[in-house]
Amino acid sequence: MTTPIPPAPILLKNTRVIDPASQRDEVTDLFLLEGLLLPVPATLPANTLCLEARGTLATPGFLDLHVHFRDPGGLAAETLMSGSRAAAAGGFTHVVTMPNSSPACDTPALLQRQFDPQLAVRILPAACITAGRQGQQLADMEALAAAGAMAFTDDGAMVSDPALMAAAMQRARQLDRVIMDHAVLPALAGPGVIRACAAATQFQLPIFPPEAEIAAVEQDIRLCRQTGARLHLQHLSCAASVAAIRAARRAGLPVSGEASPHHLALAAEDILTDDGNLRMNPPLGNREDLRMLREAVLDGTLSALATDHAPHAPATKSRGFLQAPFGVIGLETAAAVTYTLLVEQEGLPLLDWVARWTTGPAAILGIPPPTLADGAPANLALFDIVTPWRVQPAQFQSLSRNCPFADWTLRGKPLLTICAGRLTWRDAVRLR
Ligand SMILES: [Zn+2]
Repeated sequence: MTTPIPPAPILLKNTRVIDPASQRDEVTDLFLLEGLLLPVPATLPANTLCLEARGTLATPGFLDLHVHFRDPGGLAAETLMSGSRAAAAGGFTHVVTMPNSSPACDTPALLQRQFDPQLAVRILPAACITAGRQGQQLADMEALAAAGAMAFTDDGAMVSDPALMAAAMQRARQLDRVIMDHAVLPALAGPGVIRACAAATQFQLPIFPPEAEIAAVEQDIRLCRQTGARLHLQHLSCAASVAAIRAARRAGLPVSGEASPHHLALAAEDILTDDGNLRMNPPLGNREDLRMLREAVLDGTLSALATDHAPHAPATKSRGFLQAPFGVIGLETAAAVTYTLLVEQEGLPLLDWVARWTTGPAAILGIPPPTLADGAPANLALFDIVTPWRVQPAQFQSLSRNCPFADWTLRGKPLLTICAGRLTWRDAVRLR
């Protein structure tokens, strides 16, 4: 047993602090010592790492409500360690892992192996709603919550039996945990892989109708009204789903939703080739859906962005649309895609952009808001919003390459990430 060496103090000079929790937006210096943000002392400790950060944005470390690390069960696609490095390289200090590993995360032991201080990110694990994600009987939600489950979901599949979902919501309410749902009714989705569009016709692909999501969202909202449990709807893709969530929130129901960068950036009409990297579940919406999703993020109806980082080994994703598995990676492009689309193109205020990746997701989990206030834990990210960056998946920390943004030119690249006072990511070329 060795005593860990405490990280050296760090001084970030002349960075623009964007801190939604305190509504702070100012150029200043940040000082980090022994895992905390502290006022800059009159005399710096001799071993302080001083970094000139003029022109950068400093934010609380980003929190991703939705990642898949294929550990256990798919270590060639991602491990806890590689996934944590991908998260750190994306500016994230906290991630919520989905339980659809193999075996599925439905025991305290599978949950607790994710609390590893060697990882480059802190994992806030979600546990299964049903045993083995089989949708038949509830998992031991009490034991899982006691072991540290931050949320419950069967993500990858919906709990489509309303009676079972209502029982899960009642238990979650008693445990003060949020229920997250991959709202897609399997009976309506059928074998579908794509929304109606020219590519679907050209490549003769089975259609995944929007009603599969919309009916699921409506069913979940009804159960939320019935039980009073906190409900979070994952990776939304349809204009009508967003409208249902907006109405539910106006009615005072504890319903939240997330949008993923790929659903905000791409529409079914953008699929021009038989590219398996554009196959995801739910599929890319149509133009009007994309417009409504962006509106919902801008007005806060969707208070969180989340990547749905879904790594798959290259051999599986290169099989073409019909044969490829669902999902795309997203941790290392999330900040830049959403900064470029939402802040630069749509005019989302910087404080709101950061809120969608920090205070918004934290409120959904029911944990304290991430902040850069003095005395707060030293969890932060630094971004370059000036220099264009070309996305090159070959350089990613993730073990997988199924990125739909290859060769896109964006702004908002993460330069530095600090998690619990430790440097977990540094772009050595851009930040010297
Ligand atoms: Zn899902």
